[in-house]
Amino acid sequence: MKVKLAPGIGIAKSAIDGKGCFAARFFPARRKIAEYAGERISTSEAVQRAARRAKHRMCAVDENWSIDGSRGGNGTHYINHSCEPNSFMMITHSHILFMALRDIHPGEEITIDYVQTYHSDRKRCRCGAPSCRATINKSAT
Ligand SMILES: [Zn+2]
Repeated sequence: MKVKLAPGIGIAKSAIDGKGCFAARFFPARRKIAEYAGERISTSEAVQRAARRAKHRMCAVDENWSIDGSRGGNGTHYINHSCEPNSFMMITHSHILFMALRDIHPGEEITIDYVQTYHSDRKRCRCGAPSCRATINKSAT
């Protein structure tokens, strides 16, 4: 399926995992990069879909709703996890926005800290950051 990309981003092979989302222009710190687009689904539907996929491409909006970026996504569903990310996610009025944590230059891979995912807590992180915590989900302890 052809992905219609959000302005200013590109998809390319990532050193972290599979394909990644890269800045195609300069994004200043604390400014919006793009919105997480996709199909809005219930949490129970998201859990069912996650169980069938290796790469989930889903993001929770709140306890009731998630967005599945693999359907109608704009490229932001390729944003990989890093334990030292350059971006963060902000949820406002049921919209998920990716914001720059610091200045991001063209060609840099856009990453966020997933914190919590539909993956098992044992799923290994391969982000390669010096401070990598070894698992993608952040332990509650
Ligand atoms: Zn890591």
